[in-house]
Amino acid sequence: MKYISTRGGVSAVESAEAIARGIAPDGGLYMPEAIPKTDIAYLSVIAKNGGYKALAAEILSLYLTDYTKEELLQIARDSYSSDKFPGGEVKVTKASKTVSVLELYHGPTCAFKDMALQIMPRLLVAALRKTGETRTAHILVATSGDTGKAALDGFKDVPGTKITVFYPSDGVSDIQKLQMCTQEGGNVRVCGVNGNFDDCQNGVKAVFADDEIRAEANGKGEFFSSANSINFGRLVPQIVYYFFAYFEMAKQGTISFGEKINVAVPTGNFGNILAGYMAKQMGLPIEKFICASNINNVLTDFFANGEYNANRTFHATMSPSMDILISSNLERLLYLISGAGETKKLMESLKKDGKYKIGDETLKILQTDFTGTRTDEDDTSGTLKAVNKNTGCLIDTHTAVAYSGAYKYGAKQQMLVVSTASAYKFASDVLKSITGEKVQDGFEAMDKLAIATNTVIPIALGELKSKKARFSETINADEIKRYVLK
Ligand SMILES: *Cc1c(COP(=O)(O)O)cnc(C)c1O
Repeated sequence: MKYISTRGGVSAVESAEAIARGIAPDGGLYMPEAIPKTDIAYLSVIAKNGGYKALAAEILSLYLTDYTKEELLQIARDSYSSDKFPGGEVKVTKASKTVSVLELYHGPTCAFKDMALQIMPRLLVAALRKTGETRTAHILVATSGDTGKAALDGFKDVPGTKITVFYPSDGVSDIQKLQMCTQEGGNVRVCGVNGNFDDCQNGVKAVFADDEIRAEANGKGEFFSSANSINFGRLVPQIVYYFFAYFEMAKQGTISFGEKINVAVPTGNFGNILAGYMAKQMGLPIEKFICASNINNVLTDFFANGEYNANRTFHATMSPSMDILISSNLERLLYLISGAGETKKLMESLKKDGKYKIGDETLKILQTDFTGTRTDEDDTSGTLKAVNKNTGCLIDTHTAVAYSGAYKYGAKQQMLVVSTASAYKFASDVLKSITGEKVQDGFEAMDKLAIATNTVIPIALGELKSKKARFSETINADEIKRYVLK
């Protein structure tokens, strides 16, 4: 399987090269030339006999054809080891008669990013070997909170790599900030940026696009790569859990094998939901994707009327990982529906005017698979509380946005709500939603939440309290380029 750019400007490369590069030289994103079709009955047998790791290796091998199956199985075993995922890789919990919750937050950083970011560094190291790369891969990450920590944990002390993470200094929770700034490892660096996530992301993108800086890095024996979800190595591991969840729902008797389900995904950069869409293209029986947004509802409007317009006020919400105005991976969906030529035009328009509009035909096609929902802050709180009261499930603020989207969409089919973070990561807002109590301090909120809901604080979050911050610097967005080389 070869990889090409969503903007059509480069020749096809093997997956190892696509993963090593992160972004295509023409500014587009790498995509496989075709999405492989699978036999879900066959995959379900693999999952039944070999569990999550075997299923992961099987699905990865369909995309990463220049990696051997043995290599991928070893990578999957190392990535999803029981010391990283003590409670198992993922869980599917039946919340009500029609809703199942896919819990993706049982990894080391308590957010779904671990599902991809534990595996991606290993794919990258293998890719460097395969492509004969001898320089150090300098991973640049712009984060709205969860990616940063998950990438730091995944790349910590990985030979041949180093990592710099930029986060919006006022756009992440206290706990998220502590998680990042206490990161151990000899090859890691964390820096705050005055601005929002888009400022961070644009700053990092500008480094990738700057020939001068790239040459300077090259002189130091480095090249830049990305661990953001624009890297195909992030995307492909995320396809796995959609299959796994479906098989679990069948095993639990929630659905009969082959029955179509709906899936609600709390969406930011459009990576998670796109992986689900690719699973559907591969043959997984999914009817509709509910693309759930908070009040930063660019995508809701896009799926309603076909206009993507990022010229709007940015809102900081209690679901910060979804506070995004430019959803990078949407480009991949546009490419799949309308091809590289059209995608290039739309992306140029986005860069120039901050917006674009797709044709009615294209919109109609998109609407057969996707619908967008918008959930405001009160509704997020109310849903979180109601879900806890009615189902016993303790969900975080992001998952509450998706749950609310599922309610709004309704429908008779079985719904899978994708749950992306531990409630304890956003303890203050979760506690306030459930009990009405306002507790500023994240650790105090965790303790109170544990008592109020009779649940247990994840060890990785509780132990932060006794750790010392290693990183404290904050810079302006226009200083990112210089900081990277410092
Ligand atoms: C990253 C993240 C999201 C958004 O996922 P995308 O793939 O960027 O759409 C949602 N919830 C949480 C908790 C996240 O960390």
